[in-house]
Amino acid sequence: MKGFDMKIAVFAGDGIGPEVTGEALRILDALDLPLSYHEGDVGGAAYKKHGHPLPQATLDTAKACDAILFGAVGDFDCDHLSRDLRPEQAILGLRSANGLFANLRPARVFPGLEDTSALKPEIAAAIDLLIVRELNGDVYFGEKGMRTTADGLREGYDVMSYDESEVRRIAIAGFEAAKKRRGLLCSVDKANVLETSQLWRDVVIEVSADYPDVTLSHMYVDNAAMQLVKNPGQFDVVVTGNLFGDILSDQASMCVGSIGLLASASLGERKTEFGTFGLYEPIHGSAPDIAGKGIANPMATILSAAELLRHSLGQEEQAARVEAAVAKTLADGILGGDLGGSAGTREIGDAVLARL
Ligand code: ATP
Ligand code: MG
Repeated sequence: MKGFDMKIAVFAGDGIGPEVTGEALRILDALDLPLSYHEGDVGGAAYKKHGHPLPQATLDTAKACDAILFGAVGDFDCDHLSRDLRPEQAILGLRSANGLFANLRPARVFPGLEDTSALKPEIAAAIDLLIVRELNGDVYFGEKGMRTTADGLREGYDVMSYDESEVRRIAIAGFEAAKKRRGLLCSVDKANVLETSQLWRDVVIEVSADYPDVTLSHMYVDNAAMQLVKNPGQFDVVVTGNLFGDILSDQASMCVGSIGLLASASLGERKTEFGTFGLYEPIHGSAPDIAGKGIANPMATILSAAELLRHSLGQEEQAARVEAAVAKTLADGILGGDLGGSAGTREIGDAVLARL
């Protein structure tokens, strides 16, 4: 293994970003992998230093690395800025510059935390799913506008469209993820009503021919929303478009409970020496209300680092090892404030390290 250099871009960002990424790096350091870290400025912190939330130097660093570990961006001091200078542009810019079109959000309820879910504990206990959401297409990116009808009424419109190649690559991301998990893929669409969904379904079925070991099913989005609450344990990997995925992934988050435990990965097509290039970040924001107090829960970022190991560095075993250490820490009752506990950022990092 030695001799390789696995390059991780570390963009800690604003608020609690530096605190939580600091703990994730301590965990990565303990794994005895040939990792190197390459820091870059993003968000409000970058704006204050360089006048832009995503400086060229940061983009260059990302390009030169195998993966990005991203903290969080968001800064009240930047609220007065125009939209293209806001901290949030950093994440959007990194996604588009690196062709990151697949957003993966794992959602699972860790043993002992069943009662943090919005669902009944016995239903929540079975949640261990992954939502694979398309990120670059759909109604968010189609032609949009405002016009006046013949009757003089204002009419807004947003065109929903997907071409085959866009569906194919996200379908492949879904099948690849399912192959690494329990081998079940549920494709969510609205093929009874939408033309885009009919194409989506056809292409997903075509791609399935390359994945004989993955069991494919289809579900309409309205039913999927219902099933996610009624019987979430039936899902392994869910693959869906941008709009449906936006809604379902937030719904899945609440089925799990705490914001401090949810990781995400954004993947593209670029292959690295070890896997697929990706950006990994907690789903929570910069939490300015608790920044600098040492009380942010770093587990979502630690779990994001585990996804980084899995998808970008090809280190499935190490990823599972980190996840097991997190699960053990939680089962031992070491909980952050977001879970009603009193453990601080560093203390949680230490506890996970001790259980690795
Ligand atoms: P953004 O717009 O960046 O998503 P936000 O204000 O909507 O920011 P968060 O920054 O995620 O959302 O914060 C929402 C709430 O959750 C805040 O009260 C924050 O303190 C809390 N919170 C967020 N992340 C964590 C964490 N890792 N540990 C503990 N509490 C957290
Ligand atoms: Mg938010």
